[in-house]
Amino acid sequence: MIDITSQDWFCDERSQKVMHILASYGKEARFVGGCVRDALIGRAVHDIDIATPEKPQVVEKLLQENGIKTIPTGIEHGTITAVCEGLVFEITTLRSDVSTDGRRATVVFSEDWLEDAARRDFTFNALSVGLDGVVHDPFDGVADLQAGRVRFVGAPHQRIEEDYLRLLRFFRFSAYFAKAPMDGEALQACIELAPKLSELSGERITQELLKLLSSPRPAKWISLMHNFGIMAHLITGTQDSHALEMMCAFEDKPDGLRRLSILLNKDADTVEQVIDRLKLSKKQSKRLRAARLYDGVISMDNIFVQLYRFGAETVQDRLFIYWAEKQFSGLGPAEQSLLHEIAQWKMDPKTFPLSGKDLLERGFTSGPQMGEALSCVEDWWCENQCQPDREACLTFLASLS
Ligand code: ATP
Ligand code: MG
Repeated sequence: MIDITSQDWFCDERSQKVMHILASYGKEARFVGGCVRDALIGRAVHDIDIATPEKPQVVEKLLQENGIKTIPTGIEHGTITAVCEGLVFEITTLRSDVSTDGRRATVVFSEDWLEDAARRDFTFNALSVGLDGVVHDPFDGVADLQAGRVRFVGAPHQRIEEDYLRLLRFFRFSAYFAKAPMDGEALQACIELAPKLSELSGERITQELLKLLSSPRPAKWISLMHNFGIMAHLITGTQDSHALEMMCAFEDKPDGLRRLSILLNKDADTVEQVIDRLKLSKKQSKRLRAARLYDGVISMDNIFVQLYRFGAETVQDRLFIYWAEKQFSGLGPAEQSLLHEIAQWKMDPKTFPLSGKDLLERGFTSGPQMGEALSCVEDWWCENQCQPDREACLTFLASLS
């Protein structure tokens, strides 16, 4: 198993500084959860969680006195975000959940590391490590991680009843780490409690669902959730995951939102319902609609118009969805050329060289006629692969009259 103390994020001066500051009054702080788990199996660490016995107000004071920016992200649950020279840390006071209702918990702060570990969801998420590099593993999480076992801390049914999101997290972590068959008791609890998923807020579900979809083989896990009747309680209007599986093969890197779009039935009602259920942002909603509801075909004849009007991301979404649904088994030279143009556009997106000002300077008066002339030049420019320069566009404009 990998030595955590030699990893960049652990040695980083900023991590060391924050940990030392938190220990100012003699109580050890530890890195916890995902960063320890990922570090131990050599996955990139992308966010750093720290736990401390110090109360949130003390954490805030210590950090601020040392010039570290704090954000009271979830201070009532003991979580403060610290930003130290650009590096972000989520710092949470040790706690235990005194009452839960499946959606939120009432917490009491604690000084007991074991109590804090026991409220965490899975054995490998209950790991912690201090600056001395000693890994604390109260529930044999390291062995589970090595064996690819996703195991709840405590009885699965009870732990899911406390927070229904854990059901989805069970599938999410299985999608990344499972090498062993799923724990039968946990799976049974998931099936029984799946109807409760409808009580969770869209924001919480979305984060987990997009992470699940970004895993190496999402189709397998989505299809399991489908077959066990779980998916229907999450979102409605999904189709089987065969096209999703096909699409993953075309991707250069996983994209949860694109993967979500190919899972949905191709109709506006479904898309709107899912946007509403998942409380997607304006940007995500626009992208989902543009990807899922597009009916045309993209070829070299129209790719520049597409890139210019909708952007590289949406064009790529549309192409991948089309290829997957048409069951392309591989990409030939024509498809490769399209991908090449998308890649070029991402590096160097073209901008139309004229604006209304140019037309006003050439005797146009603002109004619909001027708008029409400008669009006409713009269409011509797009049809010519967005190549014509400013001079060429002005010449074409002159030829219109
Ligand atoms: P990643 O950051 O890769 O998504 P993570 O394990 O760090 O994975 P977070 O959502 O960042 O997941 O949560 C940090 C830690 O908080 C987890 O490792 C776990 O110990 C605990 N945790 C998060 N959500 C829950 C939950 N719903 N129930 C119990 N413990 C949780
Ligand atoms: Mg995390």
